Amino acid sequence: MTLSQERILATEIPGPRSRELQARKVAAVSAGVGTTLPVYVEQAGGGVLRDVDGNQLIDFGSGIAVTTVGNAAPRVVEAVQRQVADFTHTCFMVTPYEEYVAVCEKLAQLTPGDHEKRSALFNSGAEAVENAVKVARHHTGRDAIVVFDHAYHGRTNLTMALTAKNMPYKHRFGPFAGEVYRAPMAYPYRWPGGPEACAEEAFDAFVATVHAQVGEDNTAAVLIEPIQGEGGFIVPPPGWLRRVADWCREHGILLIADEVQTGFARTGDWFACDHEGVVPDLMTTAKGMAGGLPLAAVTGRAEVMDSVHVGGLGGTYGGNPVACVAALAAIETMEAEDLPARAREIEKTFLPRLEALAARHPDRVGDVRGRGAMLAIELVSDGAGRTPDAALAGAVHRACSSQGLVTLTCGTFGNVFRFLPPLAIGDDLLAEGLDVFEAAFDAAVSGKVE
Ligand SMILES: *Cc1c(COP(=O)(O)O)cnc(C)c1O
Repeated sequence: MTLSQERILATEIPGPRSRELQARKVAAVSAGVGTTLPVYVEQAGGGVLRDVDGNQLIDFGSGIAVTTVGNAAPRVVEAVQRQVADFTHTCFMVTPYEEYVAVCEKLAQLTPGDHEKRSALFNSGAEAVENAVKVARHHTGRDAIVVFDHAYHGRTNLTMALTAKNMPYKHRFGPFAGEVYRAPMAYPYRWPGGPEACAEEAFDAFVATVHAQVGEDNTAAVLIEPIQGEGGFIVPPPGWLRRVADWCREHGILLIADEVQTGFARTGDWFACDHEGVVPDLMTTAKGMAGGLPLAAVTGRAEVMDSVHVGGLGGTYGGNPVACVAALAAIETMEAEDLPARAREIEKTFLPRLEALAARHPDRVGDVRGRGAMLAIELVSDGAGRTPDAALAGAVHRACSSQGLVTLTCGTFGNVFRFLPPLAIGDDLLAEGLDVFEAAFDAAVSGKVE
């Protein structure tokens, strides 16, 4: 059944059926699992989510950058239906199947660099990051991992240690894994010496941190999101990532690019590293890769990935055949429909409107940033004072929700409003979603949102 590509407000949001289900949720699901918009979804596709009350919401979140090819994308649905009827699981480590190998071949072809590569498949982004760290430590014989301020790498024990933000990800969940060190992030908007000085000074601060607090020879890997995701869609200045990559190579330190959020067409290239011409030694991918099915990968230099002893990597479900055919179908969709170009088009529609909004509200929109279909504005209470305004972000979010627009916030200070529309969204819905957002923003700024 196809879903009409239109916003429909049939009831208040959330409607009565959603409220009933939310009451059951509260009685059955751990309170630790939050829901930012308790609207229960019945069907989704293109740029629309349909809820159990008959409302249709415009999707500017893609389930956190996952349904890049659209929800229930036709090729993905067809491939999954066929595979699920053939076989659902054997465990690749017991009796393998072609689809796993085909996904790894595709990863070798699409990821940056034309060197020989190998991949291993897992179930989640955090699991991929854990395994990239395992491989880096094993290959180098070194322990230390360097990460950055505002980083987000997941919620498992090791990845909590790698993640920067305490609330809600780490608070009272320790003790955390050791040998993780944090360097300053090149964050132009909040760099003390100003955006122009950021590239140079942030690179010097990174080198000084590793040298003084860790030691180059003790460092297995530097782990970085080429554009930070949960930490606030922070785009480092041009050239900074390249310098970090070159410096790592000089010191025998592996560069792990965490492209779990930025990967697979989201930023207007296949991977965010492509934009900087950076070739990482290892890359982690997940979110957008498999059209909504759980699949993640570590892809890296053959000599690094193959240095691990047989049986050292794996997991019962990693590279599940249904998830693998979904990934192959999602990637085929990205290629056939040139979704990297679509992401660049979305940027062209979006950015001028965000910049116009910032010009209208210079005291409240401190920064507009992002790339492709991964864009954000950072909200403040006092213009050049740059005081984070999480309350305003929350009010805009509530106003968008009540008008049938699904949006997400992020950032260490909770004050970044981010946009991650599915690349399958049509131009009309995109424009309408922006209209809704702008009206919500104006209402929130003038205090008209509860
Ligand atoms: C979401 C995310 C992860 C964690 O992925 P999960 O599938 O939620 O475990 C890791 N790194 C980055 C950059 C992410 O955005």
